[in-house]
Amino acid sequence: MNKIQTVLGPISPEELGITMMHEHIVARFNEKLENRELDYAVKELKKAKMMGCQTIVEVSPPKMFLEGKGGRNIRFLEKVAKETGLNIICCTGYYQIPPEIKKKSVEDIADEMIKEITEGIEDTNIRAGVIKVAANNVPLNPSEEKIFLAAGMAQSQTGVPVCCHSIFGPLEQLETLIKGGANPEHCYFSHVEAEFGWEGRTLQDEAKYLLEIARRGGSLLFNNFGFEHDTPWNDLVYIICHLVEEGFSNRVLISMDVNWVIHNNGLVELEAEDVNPECRKRNYAYLFTHAIPALEKAGINKKTIEKFLIDNPKNILTPFKP
Ligand SMILES: [Zn+2]
Repeated sequence: MNKIQTVLGPISPEELGITMMHEHIVARFNEKLENRELDYAVKELKKAKMMGCQTIVEVSPPKMFLEGKGGRNIRFLEKVAKETGLNIICCTGYYQIPPEIKKKSVEDIADEMIKEITEGIEDTNIRAGVIKVAANNVPLNPSEEKIFLAAGMAQSQTGVPVCCHSIFGPLEQLETLIKGGANPEHCYFSHVEAEFGWEGRTLQDEAKYLLEIARRGGSLLFNNFGFEHDTPWNDLVYIICHLVEEGFSNRVLISMDVNWVIHNNGLVELEAEDVNPECRKRNYAYLFTHAIPALEKAGINKKTIEKFLIDNPKNILTPFKP
């Protein structure tokens, strides 16, 4: 089985096409506003589809936030997939780690992930196509370490990729995943360009640090386009160009990590729009309307950008185990 699981069933790697590897279609679902949420998600995703996007990797894990709310909503994702015609891949795993994890073994956690990947999620036969994990400490705290070891173990038995939230310590995360049994070529590290996670490294040192992850086979996902308050545009471009120049264009991914919420009064708020007005424009299509043109202007050619969007996602998402 080298099929990839989407919320509407398995597809072949060739059907993936242009793929956004780290997105949130519904991170903060509010059932009272479901119709508005569905309309908004469909409208915004269709704009990205018009620009050529064919596949969205939705990395909101179940009960994403500590209060046990938000995150993956499998029926909602199914509706969005039907209405947009996009391939939507959903995840198993964790974002904020609940305290119960302390009582579970690595094997228990891995088994729960494996069930969602091989059997189905909740009472459906929809399967997860990716494992999402997150850590915010260097070195990882004991619960984070458990989650990463479990993700590596679940990957070694199912072959699906691991997507990490990696503002802090992506190299330590990679090492922990490998210890759990992961294949680095199917692991990718997101938001690595966020400067507050650099632990005092300079831009040049950070580029070298990330190059080491690429050398070991891991991929780096960049999504801070238009997030000038977090990563200045020139720094983001410098790191991507550095990886390309050193021969690691096969380890670069680009996406938007769009996060929005609809308030009770019906207003839509996009992440960080209160600190940076540009963020108001950061929808899924922004990748094609703003980020890619700017990368091309910085000298990255069309073929390389196609690699970021098509070939690299395909190599990572195609399960390597039966
Ligand atoms: Zn995210």
